[in-house]
Amino acid sequence: MTKLKIKQSPTLPEAVVMDALGHIIIILSDTPAGIGWPATDNEWPYADLLKQRWSQQKDKDDLTPLTTHLPNAAGSHVTLACVKPDISAFDLLTLARKLCGAQLGYNPSEVMLLLPGLDEILASRITEAVAAALLAGVFAMPSFKSKPPKPKRLATLHVYGVAGVNLERTFAEAEGNNLARYLTNLPPNELTPAMYRQRIAELAEQNGWNMHFFDNKALRRQKAGAFLAVAQGSADDDAGIVQLCYHPPKTTRTTAKIPAKQRLCLVGKGICYDTGGNNLKPAKNMFGMHEDMEGSAVALGTLLALTRLKVNFSVHCWLALAQNHIGPKAYKQNDVVTASNGVTIEVVHTDAEGRMVLADTLAMASAERPDLIIDYATLTGTCVYALGTSYSGAFTNRDELMFDIIRAGRDSGERVWPFPTDSDYDKELESDIADVKQCVLAGEADHILAARFLNRFVREEVPWLHIDLSAWNHKGGLAHIPTDISGFGVRFTLNLVLDRGVMDKHKKIEAS
Ligand SMILES: [Zn+2]
Repeated sequence: MTKLKIKQSPTLPEAVVMDALGHIIIILSDTPAGIGWPATDNEWPYADLLKQRWSQQKDKDDLTPLTTHLPNAAGSHVTLACVKPDISAFDLLTLARKLCGAQLGYNPSEVMLLLPGLDEILASRITEAVAAALLAGVFAMPSFKSKPPKPKRLATLHVYGVAGVNLERTFAEAEGNNLARYLTNLPPNELTPAMYRQRIAELAEQNGWNMHFFDNKALRRQKAGAFLAVAQGSADDDAGIVQLCYHPPKTTRTTAKIPAKQRLCLVGKGICYDTGGNNLKPAKNMFGMHEDMEGSAVALGTLLALTRLKVNFSVHCWLALAQNHIGPKAYKQNDVVTASNGVTIEVVHTDAEGRMVLADTLAMASAERPDLIIDYATLTGTCVYALGTSYSGAFTNRDELMFDIIRAGRDSGERVWPFPTDSDYDKELESDIADVKQCVLAGEADHILAARFLNRFVREEVPWLHIDLSAWNHKGGLAHIPTDISGFGVRFTLNLVLDRGVMDKHKKIEAS
């Protein structure tokens, strides 16, 4: 984990301080009355010079920073932007990625963030966004190059213009997101289900999580036929379902709007490689399919972030680890299998393996009757067609939570948008031979059908949110994240659970 230190000062720096630093990010407020430039140079050093250069910059808009140098001995690299007070979380994080990316390219050991004349709320939001962008930007992704890239040196961020911004949450979210992105970036021969389980066991040891592994033998006892149908195609007998449990320590924080004794359940799809199975994917679509475990990595990263924050409720995490292979034993179209909750499934397409492994995992997770289940899965192409890769899809069995779900996406900068989950969609999944079809071969809205299919494995009394991770990979980075692989979901979930208190809210609604 990065050891970035963040020093905050409510006052603005002297010229001598700015001259000593080679890397400076400046953000001003763009109010309806105009950009918040001070009247004279007395307010902060180089203000008049930068004002002149800003006004000379052609085609500028809110999200295009000015990049320039100060006429001092260090030739300080300056990136400067002006933001409107009501800038969205997503736009602010995107701007922070650009401003920080321009500085991190020089691999500095120190960066200054200068916030002249901003109100405290905006200054705090900007500090949070810049810290988030730096923590994402300096984190080293796996590299197997014989000459590995130089590690990022950044050790300190000096903030001038605001103090007392609590960044504990930002650090926790960054650690969770970085873990999710790191694991997802690993090549498939470095992250088989067995290797993944080993890494998870190490994390469990370090973080005090109880870990239980349901191997194929244990899953046969559970009659988890949907999961096993996918796992049976692998030559190695290493697939299985991991259960991790975080229990609040005796000294918990009272920050969350959540009473103790509640239990959150995180579920993730962990297909370490997806060939498509017998319905083999073409090369173009199979390339990158080691990323098909990102849902499990996001669940794990979220668990890690909540652990760092010592939340006062239990978190259970269920990870479905398998590969979808071709081979003589691989499951095939028209097979009929029985899931652990007794539902029989007619297999229609072997590339719809995600919903098969999730079916049993959700059935087992919901049997514990948690207060909320959130599952994350790189599940359907149609969700990407519907939303692109900037948003992820949200589906829930509790319509009354939808407003909070949208708000959590908007406020966290990891945006989600809801889809309908009405029961009449089930007609398309009617099977002549089994309780339900896994999917359809020709049809529309597979993301909705997938959610309706999964709904069969979640107990009705358990509130459930399914996130179809269409934003799992966004070319060039997304919001504050500079890599294509986004690790989308940790910030969203913490906002939903900690800030919006949905676990408690739905209880109150259901009791009324
Ligand atoms: Zn697939």
